Amino acid sequence: MARTCNLYCVYCHNPPTGEKRDPLKIAAALKKRGVKAVSLEGGGEPTAGGDFFEWIKALSGAGVKRFMLSTNAVALSDAGFCRRAVGKIEYFTVNFPSHREDVYAKITRSVKFRAALKGLLNIKALGAEEKIRFFHIISAANYRLLPEFAMWAARNFPRAAFVNFTFVRNKGRALKAGRIVPRYTQVSPFIKLALAALKLKGYKAVVQNIPLCALKDFEGFSFEFQRWRRGDRVLEEGIDPKAACPACARCTLEPACCGARPDYLKVHGAGELKASRKDPRSITPERF
Ligand code: SF4
Ligand code: SF4
Repeated sequence: MARTCNLYCVYCHNPPTGEKRDPLKIAAALKKRGVKAVSLEGGGEPTAGGDFFEWIKALSGAGVKRFMLSTNAVALSDAGFCRRAVGKIEYFTVNFPSHREDVYAKITRSVKFRAALKGLLNIKALGAEEKIRFFHIISAANYRLLPEFAMWAARNFPRAAFVNFTFVRNKGRALKAGRIVPRYTQVSPFIKLALAALKLKGYKAVVQNIPLCALKDFEGFSFEFQRWRRGDRVLEEGIDPKAACPACARCTLEPACCGARPDYLKVHGAGELKASRKDPRSITPERF
């Protein structure tokens, strides 16, 4: 539904195209399929086009009852807009790449940190903190701060639903931003510290797009592992298939692992991947 964005994130892998789509046409198509729940996301920032509530109205008219929103929360800094949105949205997945203003500015190439934070605080002030899901993309610009971010989230938004740490994809704008993709082995100690800190606080967390060998002893936090445990396909629809690599061919964790990403191998190769002999059924999934 989105066509523009009020940020210019260095890692955006699905940047806006400016193409406007007709809410009524999309609503009619969803009605035909009997869709009752939608996630408002993709191709930009859904709240930045000026027609956000037109979309909600059109989709509600077509029978959609439940709305999830992926947002950077900048527009939610407007208290009236936020109040209306909280009344309609079941979950806000908030792309918030740093709790530090200077790092946020570098990643989003914007001066919108305070607006985004205000958006989060407005949701909280409206009694809807439980609706916040932090979506924290791990990149070269912020991986050393993962434990600090975890503590910040737990301290300032203790009732948020969870933190999702997702490893940056080497796609879209990231391809033009040299060295934005860190190595798995660089990130590994920091992500483990962040996960341990959140677990000690009783805060839910999940990790996406990082192979299990980079999460040794923390595999239960892997989103893809949890999908496998539930009996779902390990990779979500629309995600590129795993890259073939010799370590994965020998690894007992392979069925439950997102594997090495083809876009990652282009920059760092497969040298860090280590075949395991662990039985994936012996891993306990973490709370999520
Ligand atoms: S990642 Fe999201 S917030 Fe950032 S530029 Fe892309 S669409 Fe906008
Ligand atoms: S070696 Fe391959 S299959 Fe095994 S944990 Fe690493 S990436 Fe996953």
